[in-house]
Amino acid sequence: MTMLALQKEVEFDTGHRVPDHSSKCFNPHGHRYRVRATCAGSLVNEDGAPDNGMLVDFSDLKHWLTEYAHDVYDHAFVVYEGDEVMRKSLDSGLDWKVVTVPFIPTAENMALDIFERLAPIVDKHWRNNLRLVKIEVTPVDITKKSLRVAEIFGPTIQGEGATAGMNAAFIRLSGCNLACTWCDTPYTWDWTGQNGHAYDKDKEATKMTVEEIVALVEPLNTDRIVITGGEPLTQESGLVALLKALEAKGFFTEVETNGTRPFPDGAPVTTRWNISPKLANSGNTKAKRWKPKVLGTFPVGMTAFKFVVRDRDDIDEVLGLMRELPVPLSMVYLMPEGKTYPEVYKHSQRVAELAIELGLNFSPRLHVMLWDDERGH
Ligand code: SF4
Repeated sequence: MTMLALQKEVEFDTGHRVPDHSSKCFNPHGHRYRVRATCAGSLVNEDGAPDNGMLVDFSDLKHWLTEYAHDVYDHAFVVYEGDEVMRKSLDSGLDWKVVTVPFIPTAENMALDIFERLAPIVDKHWRNNLRLVKIEVTPVDITKKSLRVAEIFGPTIQGEGATAGMNAAFIRLSGCNLACTWCDTPYTWDWTGQNGHAYDKDKEATKMTVEEIVALVEPLNTDRIVITGGEPLTQESGLVALLKALEAKGFFTEVETNGTRPFPDGAPVTTRWNISPKLANSGNTKAKRWKPKVLGTFPVGMTAFKFVVRDRDDIDEVLGLMRELPVPLSMVYLMPEGKTYPEVYKHSQRVAELAIELGLNFSPRLHVMLWDDERGH
C-alpha cells in the first residue's frame, strides 16, 4: 500500500528562558514559533465515504494543532519547574498565563512535549491508518515574512474615523475577499475585470518583506501608519508580523478592514481597528459581507465601525444591522458616500444630522474633500 505524508502548521508567541545557558538565552525573552506537524499514512479508498480519497481532513489536523500546541503555549511564559528564580519572579499574584513544565523550555523540548500529547490523538482519531511522524518547532523571524503590497504613500492625513486629521502614512495591501461594485481601489484585487477593468497582478502587487516595508515607511516623517487595502486580513500572518515590527519601531498603527475576518491572533493591543462593513449597495451578498460574530471579536476601545451611507435606504439598512451589532453606539461612525468633494459635501450635512439624531458619530472623508480620489492620499 502506498504511504503518503502531509503537513500542517500553526504559529504562536511564547516567552521563556534557558536557565543554564551561558549566553543571552539565560535572560527572559520571547519568540514567535512555527510548529509543523507531519503525518503519514494511506489514503482512504471507500466509495461514498466523506473522506474518500483523503489521508486526513486538514481542518481536523489544524484543530488538534491549535488545541495541543497553540492554545497551550500562545501568549504564555513557559518556565521549567526547577527554575525557582524565574518561578518566584512570575509569582506576582496577577492572572498571567504561566505554563510550568518538567523540562527546560527549549524549542526541542517543546517539540517533544507537543509530539507526546498530539500523537495519541492523531493515531486514535483517523481510521487507524494515520500516524504523527514528526513535530518541528522553529523560531520565526517576523521581519522576513512577506506581503503583497499595492502602494505605500505619505506623509498625508488620515481622512476618516476617530483619528481623522492626524498625520499618517499608508501601506495599501493587495487582495480582497469581497468585490464591491463601487470599489475605489480595484487595482488591489480585480485581476479578472469583474468591475469592468482587469488589473495586472504582476504590476499592481509587489511582494515585499516586513523588513523592506518598514525601511520604506521609516523615513516618511510620521509616527502613524495606517494599513489599508484591499482587505489586509486576507494576509493575516504577514499583517500581524508587520504590525509587530511597526510597534517595535514606535509607530502608532491602524488597520482598515471590511469586518469579514476576525481579530487576528497575536496582533498588538496598541493597534486601532477601523471596520467598515459593506451594505447591500456594495453588490456583495449579505452572507459574504455581514458577519456580526466576527465584528464582536475586535477590542472595544480600539475599534471604530464606519458605515458609508448615501440615502435613506442605506440609513434604514444600517439601523437594521446595528440591532445585530454587539458593540456600543459610541463605536459607530456614519460617513457620507462620494468619490469627489462635491459628492461628499452634498451628503455631509444630512448624514451628520442623522448621526446626531441616532446618537452616533459622524466621520468626514477629508482626503476625498481635499484631493478627490487622487492616488497617494
Ligand atoms: S472591501 Fe474594500 S477593497 Fe474590497 S472590494 Fe470592497 S471597497 Fe474594495
